[in-house]
Amino acid sequence: MTHPDAFDVLISEVGPRDGLQSVKATMPTADKQRWIDALAAAGLREIEVASFVPARLLPQMADAAQVVQHARQHAQVRVMALVPNLQGAQHALEAGAQKLTLPVSASPAHSLANVRKTPEDMVQEVAAVLRLRDIVAPGVPVEVGMSTAFGCTLQGPVPEDDVLRLAQQLAAIGVDEIGLSDTTGMANPAQVSRLFKRMFQEIGPLTGAAHMHNTRGLGLANCLAAYEAGVRTFDSSLAGLGGCPYAPGASGNVVTEDLVFMFEAMGVSTGVDWARLVAAREALKAGLPGEPLYGMSPEAGLPRGWNRQIN
Ligand code: ZN
Repeated sequence: MTHPDAFDVLISEVGPRDGLQSVKATMPTADKQRWIDALAAAGLREIEVASFVPARLLPQMADAAQVVQHARQHAQVRVMALVPNLQGAQHALEAGAQKLTLPVSASPAHSLANVRKTPEDMVQEVAAVLRLRDIVAPGVPVEVGMSTAFGCTLQGPVPEDDVLRLAQQLAAIGVDEIGLSDTTGMANPAQVSRLFKRMFQEIGPLTGAAHMHNTRGLGLANCLAAYEAGVRTFDSSLAGLGGCPYAPGASGNVVTEDLVFMFEAMGVSTGVDWARLVAAREALKAGLPGEPLYGMSPEAGLPRGWNRQIN
């Protein structure tokens, strides 16, 4: 749905969470903070900065509270954190997270493998997070990103009716936003369009972000299909970091730089300054030397005349 701010779409940067979670190396806290500062300077208004999981499971996220506190300095940025369960939500809210996102898998096989819970059990966990939120931080929106909504490597195809039914259950317990994630890079534009249209029919304005992966090169096409279906929030990652790429040479998450370029070129305002976004790649590189940086538009640069189109 139309986002309640001055711009046409909201780009939700997930690199510091989705990205860092997927790489082996650990980015030092000071480098994460400088990277987030550079992302904020580019005009991003929502950044998923950390995941609140036990440090023994994900040492890359051991400094989650510190990173959230640092990111809160940027008044124009909504600081978002991924929480897998009630305990994570408790820690994230204590640290000052301004929006929570929980992954709920549409595929029972993926859900059991990932969090050892069925999707129905996860709905109960989300309900517990909502009760906590209502008591300690009533202004903090809770989003669910529905993983494997477009297919699952374990289960294969995921029936659309299963996705819709889960979305209805989540809407019924009071989730603020329900997005769809192409966790394993299986979505195609026709499917994205169809499923998001059905989401709008079933749960209306609770329909949230499109979280697309570029595993097989369809990331931007899928974002465009979602946009045309009415989606106005898009998850992406600077330099395409993360998203568990399977094929060598393929990026995982949709590349923020290319997504911003596409929308701005179409006259769809993002509020993000493309040049500053590209500059933020330096901060990423400094904190994660040796990690490949993806993106076509940073390689090619802006076409002539672009400045007339932007802003
Ligand atoms: Zn992702």
